[in-house]
Amino acid sequence: MKDKTAIVTGGTRGIGRAIVLELARNGCNVVFNYSKSDELANTLVKEVESHGVKVVAKKVDVSDFEAAKNMVKDVKDEFGQIDYLVNNAGITKDKLLALMGENDWDDVINTNLKSVYNFSKAVIMTMIKQKRGNILNITSVSGIAGVAGQVNYSSSKAGMIGFTKSLAKEVGKANINVNAIACGFIETDMTSSLPDEYKKKMTDMTSLKRFGTPEEVAKIALFLLSDDAKYITGHVLTVDGGLAI
Ligand code: NAP
Repeated sequence: MKDKTAIVTGGTRGIGRAIVLELARNGCNVVFNYSKSDELANTLVKEVESHGVKVVAKKVDVSDFEAAKNMVKDVKDEFGQIDYLVNNAGITKDKLLALMGENDWDDVINTNLKSVYNFSKAVIMTMIKQKRGNILNITSVSGIAGVAGQVNYSSSKAGMIGFTKSLAKEVGKANINVNAIACGFIETDMTSSLPDEYKKKMTDMTSLKRFGTPEEVAKIALFLLSDDAKYITGHVLTVDGGLAI
């Protein structure tokens, strides 16, 4: 991946952060975004630079169409190419539907699903002109099996799966791969606040009897982005320790 350029959304924490570092370790220049902590972003920039690649951090809300377009334009202007897009940024606002407000629905759909449209739309003409590209969407087993209390999140993640398959059919002829990773329970800030009793129940339901690590997801992401996986497209690879069996 030397001299290639990747955009990773939601790079400052958890799975996105691990993917940024895994790409950097493999010689890839990385541009990542985030919406809150400049401090986390600056720390990651320093860590990525130690791998001898170029890195840019952008404070951009993924749900903002114009901001995503401008960010991608800046990447194109600076690096001249966009080889990989990882749509990773995501949030949860779990509630039973009876208690779920309009904002809980809109925020999750806009951050998790509209963002995938925003960034994919912004990169796609560049990738088509290059006749090369790879888009990877980080979705969830919640979008496959459904989870009570997550109608907003499950809908966004199921939407990402439909998006992945449809776009793969559109752009295969331009040598562009589009895949998804459906994560089970991964040790990040997103899952750390879950009640201990629920975590234990989910661990028991997971065949490997543990949560996964962001680094384990990042290794699979690297594979799907690499030329070793060039004949895989439109695929949803479950990385869940056997949760969804
Ligand atoms: P996380 O630790 O909460 O990190 C989320 C990242 O996304 C942060 O860097 C955050 O940065 C960024 N982000 C959130 N909203 C954003 C916005 N509006 N604009 C820009 N960046 C934004 O989450 P994670 O567990 O690593 O999850 C990463 C992805 O994996 C998500 O799509 C999630 O749905 C999916 N996933 C996770 C699990 C799991 O068990 N952890 C399971 C299945 C799927 P800021 O805070 O600065 O905005």
